[in-house]
Order: sequence, then structure tokens, then C-alpha cells
Amino acid sequence: MRVRIFDTTLRDGEQTPGVALTPEKKLSIAKRLDDLGVDVIEAGFPIVSEGEQQGIKLITKANLSAEICGLARTSKKDIDAAIDCGLNYIHTFIATSDIHLQYKLKMTRDEVLAKAIEAVEYGKAHGLQVEFSAEDATRSDREFLKRVFSEVAKAGADRIDIPDTVGYSTPQYMAQITKDAIAASKLPISVHCHNDFGLAVANAISGIQAGAQCAHVTINGIGERAGNASLEEFVMALQCLPFEQKWETGIKTKLLYETSRYVSNLVGIAVQPNKAIVGENAFGHESGIHTHGILSNPLTYEPISPELVGRTRWMQVGKHAGIHGVSAMLEEYGVKPNEGQLRLILDKVKAIGDQGKQITDVELLSIANEILGEHAIKRIVQLTGFSVSTGIGTMPYAFVKINIDGTDYIGTDYGVGPVDAALNAIQKITGEISKVRVKEYKLDSISGGSAALCEVTIKVEDAIGNMSSAKSIGEDIVITSVQAMIDGINRIMLKKTLKQKKIGS
Ligand code: MN
Repeated sequence: MRVRIFDTTLRDGEQTPGVALTPEKKLSIAKRLDDLGVDVIEAGFPIVSEGEQQGIKLITKANLSAEICGLARTSKKDIDAAIDCGLNYIHTFIATSDIHLQYKLKMTRDEVLAKAIEAVEYGKAHGLQVEFSAEDATRSDREFLKRVFSEVAKAGADRIDIPDTVGYSTPQYMAQITKDAIAASKLPISVHCHNDFGLAVANAISGIQAGAQCAHVTINGIGERAGNASLEEFVMALQCLPFEQKWETGIKTKLLYETSRYVSNLVGIAVQPNKAIVGENAFGHESGIHTHGILSNPLTYEPISPELVGRTRWMQVGKHAGIHGVSAMLEEYGVKPNEGQLRLILDKVKAIGDQGKQITDVELLSIANEILGEHAIKRIVQLTGFSVSTGIGTMPYAFVKINIDGTDYIGTDYGVGPVDAALNAIQKITGEISKVRVKEYKLDSISGGSAALCEVTIKVEDAIGNMSSAKSIGEDIVITSVQAMIDGINRIMLKKTLKQKKIGS
């Protein structure tokens, strides 16, 4: 069965505490959602502000394939504002739980029902597609909820949505009231689940199993409080888990990671590392037993292939490392020690790991260099020229010249400081060639005083999630940062070149 994906990143997602998007940013996210293949984009809540209306208008005029919807309370002025934005699809809601009736709306059940019917009729009279939500449905009286659904259906609603507004439902209860809603309304049902108890996706799936056709979801699960059901988890679970029934969505799953990162950057909310599907660690491995398993067959410790969601797996070594993992990591950089050398490298890795330290690929490679006693790592990227200017009353500006595999490139850029300007200039060059960007930057001072040594650790990432970290130590903060960056880029490009060779051979 085809499941309809109603994305509310731009409405409920934008109601995340601390998030507010400009109209232009809303439009750019809407375009990404459209590319991803969502069926509906809830573009916003027109009545809230002028800026919100501008954003929604930009989206309704953008000629997207997805249906565009806007939120409205059950009041004429809210619905008029939606019409004014060029919307022909509204999601209108009124609370039905006694808690909301008593403390928020100060209305009786009959008054609420009358408001709901009036709004649906008003929307239909204006030619709109109307999806009706009974806010706080899961804490509403079950008989009253059935009555509301049946009456709004008679009033002409096109769809019914069941919001688990405070994430209070269990999967079992979600299934029961979904069945109630189908029986009472005979309309297509949506479920809108919140994650207050970490059950949003489970509840949404339970609704689908009980006959709902649509789920309201957001990218990265953003939304009020603990957020909404996350689009990427919901879609991948439906597609990959062993359900008796087969489900399909219109989502191009290979774009999931890219879209997640794009939204995270624009809304300014980082994705937790252990988040399913899109978190940094979701396809990362450290323990020796796991890396060994992965190397013989990824299915041993990965439920799905990372490529399916537009990612690549990564491995790192630490105190749990085994010989296979270390060997595989070195091979990624074209370093091939013999068995004895490999043992010595592993001993050192474990000794450092036992001190509680993380061993990035940079340390692993320097250990390998030490033991192999030669410069085992090839340099594809070399810094051949660099200057930076900074001061008061002038914007920090950098010039860099880089040689990549025999070709010279020049980049210049400004920044908030000399380090930023230098890294921006480098990214201008490498961004074009391999979409490399700085993911993390850390600066430490090793000793005191103005002539102290500094240590810069940089983590860089390319478009498909290949990551590499590099560390550089020096006296000059700017030059040390530039060197770390160039090292990191060198490793990513080395990985890519070797991968391409493998595919070619
Ligand atoms: Mn919500």
C-alpha cells in the first residue's frame, strides 16, 4: 500500500523552541522536501505573522510537485489568511480533550463540535481541500472523538487527522482510535505523533497498520518539545522492517542524509550522534568484533546498507580495535603493512585507547608511519602559497594557492577572523572539486605564553559523508589551522581516489 508522507518540517518543525526561518529559507527547504518526494508540504501557519505569509506565498508560487498545505484554527480569519496565501489545502484544528476545553478554550463539547463543523463548511465553501485535526485526540473522550469525526465528515471534510499532541499514546491505543476514526468518518486518516516518550515513529506505524493512509512527519524529527515522528525513521522502517504488509512511499531514500544535513544547518539544530538513520554514528563502527564482522559481510552489524540513505559507513579504531579493522582503515589510505608491522601498530593503538583517548585516522597514520619507517602516505593536495591580512577597520582576507594532483588552484575569501578567512578560501577551491566542508574545528594551547604551541584538530566531510580528521601542531594559529585542513582534505581525496580505483578494477 502507498503511504502518504505529509511533511510538517516547515510548520510543526518550525515551532521547535528557538527556531524561526526567513521566507527565503522556508522556500529553500520546501524545494528540498519536494526533491525528496514528500506528498504534502505543510508550509506554515498563515495567521501568525506577515513573514510567515510571505514564506508561504513564495512556496505556493514555486510550482512544486508536492501539495502545499497551511495550518488554520477553526476560525474564519485563519482560513481567510490561508486563502490569501494562495493555498487550496488547509489543515484546520480544534482541541477535543476535556483538559483543553476546560483550561484553554473554555468551551463545551457542543460548542467545539459546532466550531469544527463551521470551519469545515467554510473551507469547503471556498473550494479548499480540508484536513481536520482533533487536537489532543489521544487524551479526548473516545465517544466524543468519534462523534466529532463523524460530524466533520458529514460537513464535507476530505481527510481526518489524529494528533497525539503531547505524545501520550501507546501504539495499541493509536491503532484503536485509528480504527474508530475510519469507522466514524469513512475518510482517509492521517496520524500526527509526537515524541515525548520516544514512541512517535512506533505510534505512527501502528496507525498505518490499523488503516491510516498518511503520517505527519518532520525531517530529523524536529518539532515542539521532543519533536515529531521523524520522516527518515518512519520511511525507512516502513520500507525495510519485516511487516506482513508491504508499504511504499514516494521518498527518494538516497536523498535522506543530504536533506537531513541541509535542514539541520538551516534551522541551526544539530542531529544527535546516535540518531537512527541520519545520526553521525548510525553507520559508524569501532569495536574489533564489529569491524571484523562488517569487513566480512556488512549485514552482520548493519540492518541496511548506508548507501540506501545516501551515506557511507566509517570505522575508527580504539581500545576495542582488532587487526582486521586497523588493516582495513590503513588500506583506505593505500598503506599496507605486513603482519608483524600490523601487530605493532595494533599494540600502540590499544595502549593509546587504554588511556581513554580516541584514535582518529590522523593518529593511526602517524603510528603507521613511525612503524613502517617511511612516508607511507601519498600527498595529493599540497599547499604552495598562502597569505592572510587582518587588523582593525579591515575585514580579514586570505589568499591560498593549492596544488591538487598536479593542477594549481587559487582561492581568496573573507572571514570573521584570519583562520575563518583562510579556511573559507580553501573551501572555495575544494568545495568545487569535492564538496569538502569543515565539520568540526578545535583549537588547544599546549603550553602557556604568547609563543605557546597550539594544536588544531579539524574534521572535514564530503557530500556523501566521507569523513576525515587531521591534527596539526605549530606556533602560528593560522598556518597550523591551514595545515590541518590541507591534511584532512588530502586524506578524503586519497580515500576517494582509492575507492574509484577499486570500483574501476
Ligand atoms: Mn504537532
